Amino acid sequence: MNEFDLRKFEDEAQEQWTHAFESNPSSLEKFYLTVAYPYPSGAMHVGHGRTYIVPDVVARFWRMRGKQVLYPMAFHVTGAPVIGISKRIANNDPKTIHLYRDLYKVPQNVLDEFTDPLTIVRHFASEYQRVMTACGMSIDWRRRFTTVDPTYSKFIEWQWKHLYDAGHVIKGAHPVRYCTVDDNPVGDHDLLEGDKAEVIRFTLVMFRFGDAFIPTATLRPETIYGVTNLWANPNVTYVRALVDGRVWIISQEAAEKIALQDHTVEIQEEIAGKNLIDKTVSHPLCGTVPILPADFVDTDMASGLVMSVPAHAPFDYIALRDLQQAGKYTRIKPIPLIKVEGYGEIPAQEAVEKAGITHQMDSRMDALTQEIYSAEFSKGKVFDRYGGKPVRVARDDVAALMIEKYDSKIMYEFDTRPVICRCGNKVKVKILHDQWFLKYSDPTWKKQVSDQILDMSLVPPEVRLEFDRTVDWLKDWACTRRVGLGTRFPWDTTQLIEPLSDSTIYMAYYTIAHKIREIDAKLLTPEVFNYIFLGKESPDLPEKKKLDAMRKEFLYWYPYDYRFSAKDLISNHLTFQLFHHVTIFPKDKLPRGMVVFGMGLLNGAKMSSSKGNVFLLEDAVNDFGADTVRMFLMGSAEPWQDFDWRNELVISTKKQIERFYNTVSEIKDAKGEPHDIDRWLISRLQSHIERTTTALTNFQTRQALQEAYFGIETDLKWYRRRLPENSDGSRELHTLGSVWVRLLAPFIPFTGEYLWKQLAGEGLVSFASWPVADKKLVNTRIELAEELLTRTVEDIESIMKLIQITPKSITISIAPAWKYEIFLAIARAQDKNTVIREIMKDEMMRKRGKAATDAAKQCTTLIHRLPPYVIEPLTRESIDEMNIFEEAKGFLEKEFGVPFHVTSAESSEHSKSATALPFKPAIIIE
Ligand SMILES: [Zn+2]
Repeated sequence: MNEFDLRKFEDEAQEQWTHAFESNPSSLEKFYLTVAYPYPSGAMHVGHGRTYIVPDVVARFWRMRGKQVLYPMAFHVTGAPVIGISKRIANNDPKTIHLYRDLYKVPQNVLDEFTDPLTIVRHFASEYQRVMTACGMSIDWRRRFTTVDPTYSKFIEWQWKHLYDAGHVIKGAHPVRYCTVDDNPVGDHDLLEGDKAEVIRFTLVMFRFGDAFIPTATLRPETIYGVTNLWANPNVTYVRALVDGRVWIISQEAAEKIALQDHTVEIQEEIAGKNLIDKTVSHPLCGTVPILPADFVDTDMASGLVMSVPAHAPFDYIALRDLQQAGKYTRIKPIPLIKVEGYGEIPAQEAVEKAGITHQMDSRMDALTQEIYSAEFSKGKVFDRYGGKPVRVARDDVAALMIEKYDSKIMYEFDTRPVICRCGNKVKVKILHDQWFLKYSDPTWKKQVSDQILDMSLVPPEVRLEFDRTVDWLKDWACTRRVGLGTRFPWDTTQLIEPLSDSTIYMAYYTIAHKIREIDAKLLTPEVFNYIFLGKESPDLPEKKKLDAMRKEFLYWYPYDYRFSAKDLISNHLTFQLFHHVTIFPKDKLPRGMVVFGMGLLNGAKMSSSKGNVFLLEDAVNDFGADTVRMFLMGSAEPWQDFDWRNELVISTKKQIERFYNTVSEIKDAKGEPHDIDRWLISRLQSHIERTTTALTNFQTRQALQEAYFGIETDLKWYRRRLPENSDGSRELHTLGSVWVRLLAPFIPFTGEYLWKQLAGEGLVSFASWPVADKKLVNTRIELAEELLTRTVEDIESIMKLIQITPKSITISIAPAWKYEIFLAIARAQDKNTVIREIMKDEMMRKRGKAATDAAKQCTTLIHRLPPYVIEPLTRESIDEMNIFEEAKGFLEKEFGVPFHVTSAESSEHSKSATALPFKPAIIIE
């Protein structure tokens, strides 16, 4: 027998696979799947492994099912991160050097060249291709491209012309996340922390303080009428700053932020926070109020000073109460101004007291604040003396009044912090002028996308809600950047199209990627792409023959069938690409489906390259073998669930492959005549085929492996137990081996190819036909008989364990026919509650009295306990238990080494016989 050697299998298969997965239009039905292309700025870890192996398993499955499958790959090199990396490497930044040299194992001579950003992405792009190939991914590499290829840029220009003509590209002033170190807007991918933070628009309420203003930021300007004081932090230093020619007192951080939001700011001097305490400020809408000390005031939040409305803000209420309990400021009383159903006069006080909150740090404070905020906004009304309007109206009215008459300004700030750029700098909100946006806020555009989502297959189905929410919530998107790699923005060539905006319809580009590079990029006018993708004729198209070939490719492959990506891309990429598709392509070329992945964990913790918590995919392949890595990643969780990589579990996966390999090697030459148990084995095999096929059709890789690996392995164990003595099994085992290898080939293709050759299979297993279940081979009666036997053997084993005696004989006592009647009546009944009453209407049953009602109860319990795959066939097939056990007597005596007797419970004297139920005979051990 050949030794189990995954490395050998890999080498042999790789040789045969060169060019094997290059896929061209054919007469077969197509299946086109794509994954979000990687940004190759570092080495692949096992989390990336799953992202690309799931689609590979799916691709291999459909290929074996006779479809023409296309699985392409490219590299996304657009954007700024790699520029930052190259700068840090040039500056000898120790953290970056450590990451690249020690974790990603980049050789020193290559690392020396990483001062050029393009070298970094080129290096890792070829590393990605090498490692993906080592993992056995059946990718058509002819179609590989990068997003800085000149032909790709021409394609992007064409795409953007369509977006522009449709009115989706607009210019304006807008608050955006901004890094002042990079001097560039910050996208989701550029963030170390805070990707959930949203930009919020605050009103600055301007309190008079001598010759100066003290601004406080609020989302609830209408509460000005209830202000009792301001809060300032006595432990920090504020600044006096000339803002647009007027003096403001704000935090240092606020001065820097305000300067990014259309104000001129000139800092004059510092003021200690403690010098503000107990001074007074005034505002025309609330009069004169004092400034009180508060440690909780964060100078990095908005202006760094806060107005206090203790009647309606729980935090303010508690802070004031704390001071008053220390005997200070006792004359200040909360001033209510809003009436809201469900609350008394002072909502904040009432809510805090009801919840029994005693201090500011109570974790329930945020929820309580939110609760009052929502209640007042939705149902609250300001008091008549303040206008008597609903809060949601009064809020805008008061804000407008303050801006018009009382010097208020707008300030943009994040709702949660910190927000940290990849460079380590704190991100701020900047108002960008002449900024270009994709107008995702456009309701008509949103509607087109929502309609498209309705027509799509989404896996798992629960992500539909998240897509709907994203479409609903999406705002205009700043789509250009000043710094980075990528395609120049056609209407302002000092700008580049940012990464999430140049990666939305490239799935169409894959269909022509290997052919378009034969044409000079200069010739690739929008008319050329209009012809390839939209079939629009125009005069003087260059290289018409080549264009026709590309048009043919596009028409054959498009639309894509499924797109695979991680769930954190729903809120951007996966939704953006739908917006772009609906604008550019006709209905019959719009995306058909998406599969959304869960996250990867390493020993229970989130994988993160920047935190060093990763296991490199290449190391995994070297340590465990590519098939082991694949089978572990596919078998440990369904694709949409989170998976956890643990080396000790991966080792047991390798042992499973070895067992499979050994078994198939043993059975491949089996030649004997079939026994009864062979009919069972082959019958069972049909349902494993059926269920594996269904699972893979639904992308359930874990479920498929359960059936295809463990289901068949368990059957084989039983089969061997049931074989007559001196038999090694029959020629049916060869059939089973051939099916088994094919069912597992998408998961462990290297071992699959090797064994396929051993089995003398034709061609490559990668292209062998997927097994089809043959209903004619299914024998329910035999399956039920073996099921009964298995369960009875297990019962005997557990009884023997329990009673700890050496038995002299075992008697199987079979339930009487009338119990079968009851059992079947209950199993078949729609209404399990009334069926017992129905049964007892029968005169014969009534005569049996309590015995019958007891049996009915026991049958009900048993039916609940037996799996549907036993109950369902039992309701249509009758089995002869007596006969089954008589025939298995030899087997049972061999298993347990004692004489076996089979009796009917009715003829048995033994009291235990009364417990016999259908499919659960009484077992008497003596
Ligand atoms: Zn930065």
